[in-house]
Amino acid sequence: MESQQVDLSGLAARVSHLGSETAFVAAAEAAAAAANGQKVYPFHLGDLNMATPENITEAAFRAVRDRKTGYCPNAGIPELRESIALDVGRARGLSYGVDNVSVQPGGKPVIGKFLLTTMNPGDEVLFPNPGFPIYESFIGFLGGVGVPYAYEERADGFGFDVEAIARAAGTRTRLLILNDLHNPTGGECSPEQLESLADLVLEHDLLVLCDEAYFDVRYEGSSRSLASLPGMQERCVVLYTFSKKFAMTGWRLGAAIGPKGIIDVITTLNVNCESCTNHFVQWAGVEALTGDQEAPREILRVLRERRDVAARCLNAIDGVRCHIPDVTFYLYPDVGEAMARRGFTDYEAFRRAVLKNTGVSMCSRTHFGHEAPGERGRYLRFAYSGIEVEQIEEGLDRLKAFLER
Ligand code: PLP
Repeated sequence: MESQQVDLSGLAARVSHLGSETAFVAAAEAAAAAANGQKVYPFHLGDLNMATPENITEAAFRAVRDRKTGYCPNAGIPELRESIALDVGRARGLSYGVDNVSVQPGGKPVIGKFLLTTMNPGDEVLFPNPGFPIYESFIGFLGGVGVPYAYEERADGFGFDVEAIARAAGTRTRLLILNDLHNPTGGECSPEQLESLADLVLEHDLLVLCDEAYFDVRYEGSSRSLASLPGMQERCVVLYTFSKKFAMTGWRLGAAIGPKGIIDVITTLNVNCESCTNHFVQWAGVEALTGDQEAPREILRVLRERRDVAARCLNAIDGVRCHIPDVTFYLYPDVGEAMARRGFTDYEAFRRAVLKNTGVSMCSRTHFGHEAPGERGRYLRFAYSGIEVEQIEEGLDRLKAFLER
């Protein structure tokens, strides 16, 4: 086809506010390096290199053979909605019904659909920084005003200051995005912090998106949800995903769980956007939640082993300090000293030099928002979900040699 010049200057003004998930850019650069024959150690993307459990895959094939290949209800098949309501409710000590669940093609669509449903242009939305970049992108794209709140490093890991959020919340603040069990830092709130946050939500009459993508990716203790606190269930929409727990990132299956009024609108957005989530994939989701749970337990066991090895290797590097979170499959070490010693001030230049010289591919602070004023450390994010233990050791040994040279 002959290529034609098209004038793009007339596109919608909102397009200029649309951000992206630049971890995919790091992934593309790593793929290009690998295609050039370089050995690459992939720590950049929160994807898993493990197979989806066999019983789940088989359920999908069975559903295709049973002709679950046509349109299905816009909110999802009742069997899956019910399984999600039960599972999410049970894990949070809450009672949800089918009406509280709208099945989605992944967890990510819940972010945009929640904002489309609850945010007016000009409304202020509190969101975490560093944080999953899609929050800031979508808030801006839809004409909202993003108000970042900072995750800071403390002696025992990363967290945010509820007082600082309270100071940032004003009369136009309508929404809070909370990603407790946090990407990229692995930070999580204490029960006391969640209580203070619930008070703040009530005081400012906020609605909350609880992005709980990593609720079940946990090695010690038990996860808590803001939605479980008194008065919160009716204000919180939980983002649920099958991606991480069941190694199903590419299947695209997730859900929004929350108050019926909001969920109904989100389902109407499903009608407008994709009609329904892939029909036979939903049957795989039913199997994931109701079938044998040995495989997801094994996924967690493998991840935990990788976490321990990766943290040990990173902490063995001079000028690198790394907390070991009990949740997520990310490590977020402070590499400030090592970076400075090698003469780097720019994150992207540093990341590219590391990739070029060692093959280690990871994300940096810049992939998760803008450095906050007064932020002291310099951080990288290592995802250990897509790389085997031996490769973790080999890659991080190379990184050590490069940084200590
Ligand atoms: N929320 C957070 C914090 C994430 O890290 C991710 C994926 O990395 C998602 C949501 C979306 O995941 P998915 O769309 O695969 O369910």
